[in-house]
Amino acid sequence: MAQLSIGIIGLPNVGKSTLFQALTAVAVPAENYPFCTIDPNVGVIEVPDTRLDRLHEILPPREKVAPIVEFVDIAGLVAGASRGEGLGNRFLHYVREADALVHVVRAFEDPTVVQPEGTSDPAEGLGIIETELALADLEVVTKRRQTAERKARSGDKEEAGLVGLLERLERRLDHEEPARAEHLSEDELKRVSSLALLTLKPMMYVLNVEEPDGSAEHPVEDRVRKWLAEREPGAVVLSESARLEAEIVQLPAEERAEYAGALGLQEPGLARLIRAGYRLLGLHTFFTIGESEVRGWTVRVGAHAPEAAGKVHTDFERGFIRAETIHFRDFVQARTLKTARERGLIRSEGKDYVVQDGDILFFRTSV
Ligand code: GDP
Repeated sequence: MAQLSIGIIGLPNVGKSTLFQALTAVAVPAENYPFCTIDPNVGVIEVPDTRLDRLHEILPPREKVAPIVEFVDIAGLVAGASRGEGLGNRFLHYVREADALVHVVRAFEDPTVVQPEGTSDPAEGLGIIETELALADLEVVTKRRQTAERKARSGDKEEAGLVGLLERLERRLDHEEPARAEHLSEDELKRVSSLALLTLKPMMYVLNVEEPDGSAEHPVEDRVRKWLAEREPGAVVLSESARLEAEIVQLPAEERAEYAGALGLQEPGLARLIRAGYRLLGLHTFFTIGESEVRGWTVRVGAHAPEAAGKVHTDFERGFIRAETIHFRDFVQARTLKTARERGLIRSEGKDYVVQDGDILFFRTSV
């Protein structure tokens, strides 16, 4: 399974690298994960989950293995990227590869940090990137619509059916709005999936603020939030201080939570960011307990048990027979599998079982 990757984009000097540095300071060695990309612009991060820590406590002496995501620092976006200006093409290539995007917006005020020309208004700066992504998609969609029309003229019904859908997307993109805003149905999404549209990717926004305190006034932050709320209602918007996060991760691991707490943060912002990314992608976690390790795995919300089995081993999906399962909550009360079994807390589920977040699964397979 390829790793999930989240691309970090934004204008120059908004704090992308600072945020990326904070992320990579808590990164795990990519060598340990055969499917990960080894690249200085890629950080492999464990998805923080206190449930896994708890299982590890109850079940020594086993190794603890957390699910991971890749963060990619995608620098180089400038106005005109969709026409190949700046590092345009390379930039768009990286964006295309990502499963989801984090768009970092500058919401700190610091006259010593230069802003690229014409971007001193953060909402406008944000718009520059959105426009470039939309224009890159518009080109793809227009080409595809022309092909569909040609084929439709020679009697291809399926292609004829696609024209209307592509025209809708074209209109949306032509207004420099993301294809996401068209809210396509599952079926429509399938029909355009081969186009790999950039603005269909799940996107969240990180407002890079000076200090994340709830009390003071934040005119810049408020403005950007308002702009986004009008343009993309329901968008995921987080406020983070990249600089503060970069400081927090310099501390020894056991002091980070305390320091974050002293600043009035419930947990370091990176944990929130990673979790939000997970939610945005429609993912959740199940656990396995083996002889030597207790491990968290990532699976789509709504996935059936065989798909989850396939995460553990590709052959397990094909050879899936049943899954014995107990929810994390019940297991923690029982504390041992033996007690759980005696209390009848372990169920046996078949191939139609929809995996729940926090399930502990034991797969029975014919492999
Ligand atoms: P990038 O070009 O988007 O990768 O931006 P960088 O991460 O390199 O940051 C650009 C400059 O802004 C650097 O000098 C950072 O130290 C500074 N910077 C980043 N985050 C903050 C912040 O929250 N507050 C202030 N005052 N400066 C920041």
